[in-house]
Amino acid sequence: MSRAFVSAGYNIVDSISAADIYVLNTCTVTSTADSKARQALRSAHKRNPKALIVAAGCYSQRAEDELAQMQEVSLVVKNTEKDNIVALINNARNVDESALSRIEQPLDTVLSRCRAMVKIQEGCNQICSYCIVPKVRGREKSIPSSTLISHVNSLVSEGYKEVVLTGTQLGSYGFDLPGSSLPHLIERILQETEIPRLRVSSLQPQEISQDLLNLWSNERLCPHFHMPLQSGSNKILRAMRRKYTTDQFCKSVDFIRANVPNVAITGDLIIGFPGETDSDFKETQTLVSNIFFSNLHMFPYSKRPGTSATYLNGHVSPVIKKERFTALNEIVKDSFTDFRNKFLHTTQKVLWESHKIVNEEHYWKGITENYIRVQTKTNRNIRNTITEAKLQLLEDDCVWAIIR
Ligand code: SF4
Repeated sequence: MSRAFVSAGYNIVDSISAADIYVLNTCTVTSTADSKARQALRSAHKRNPKALIVAAGCYSQRAEDELAQMQEVSLVVKNTEKDNIVALINNARNVDESALSRIEQPLDTVLSRCRAMVKIQEGCNQICSYCIVPKVRGREKSIPSSTLISHVNSLVSEGYKEVVLTGTQLGSYGFDLPGSSLPHLIERILQETEIPRLRVSSLQPQEISQDLLNLWSNERLCPHFHMPLQSGSNKILRAMRRKYTTDQFCKSVDFIRANVPNVAITGDLIIGFPGETDSDFKETQTLVSNIFFSNLHMFPYSKRPGTSATYLNGHVSPVIKKERFTALNEIVKDSFTDFRNKFLHTTQKVLWESHKIVNEEHYWKGITENYIRVQTKTNRNIRNTITEAKLQLLEDDCVWAIIR
């Protein structure tokens, strides 16, 4: 969207108070995401009542009327309309497109130019019982690999150092394009582009194959796998309509670790799915302890209107969900710390992304190939470079590194 605005003659600004238009790309995956979106829209209007406030994205797709009724919101743009967002906004503002200045703001002042997300497919055919995504994103559709290769090549020429392949169901990439598959696409990106780092955002355990893992012998592929677990109870996984068992999940984790050295394995987990008993939760606790995730994102289950789980019996009370979250968080915090401790006193390649000055000292933040966020202090400008860094110390949740 930023690119579309810039090429139409708009400038992207950092502060809401300086903006004529404020666009929020919303998420609707949980009720918390909805409520955060509403808060952000209200706050933007409060900070700049003159700005045109636009709600775009999945919440707009799911509940267009709900957002349109908010007095702070001037325009709602659904996912299906996103490609036309600039024209819709020009129309709402009564602006003649040809009157806009054509002096393009350089893209590197708009976008971070370090890591780029590249969407390779859209939509999901799986329909898990709790998930609203198939409704807001539609059926699976892959983007042709030749389009993606050109896109990655233009990102390389703009200076990007890392590409993250994203989508809703990456593992099924290419099912609708003869001769295409995710391993094939990754292989082509590695061969036909010079992107220094490539990361795959999310895969399901049943999608991990030897063919896929063989690709990780290429050091440009980041040793980082994100696999949503969602529950450690087979009964709950069935009710969620997930397509794997806990046993298959553990086997995939072992398989990855046997093939990819120093790998980070992160995941997602839903706490308090309808019907989750104390004993189901204990199974989840045991499984999470045994897997040693490098990090785990946990979400209390929330009802999504229009999904079948909403109608299941045995909804778990918010108090119990909170207790379970706290108990599991202790385990997750420990394994997150253990993972980072394992790499202290080793040298890792870090892509340096952001910078701040505190008391005249220059601090830089970056990310390792296996997704450890690190910080260093140097007067050199290391933005958007990949350097070797020795991880020294884990202090207050921050890994300090030194570079030569
Ligand atoms: S696989 Fe399940 S959880 Fe993931 S997007 Fe599809 S329906 Fe949602």
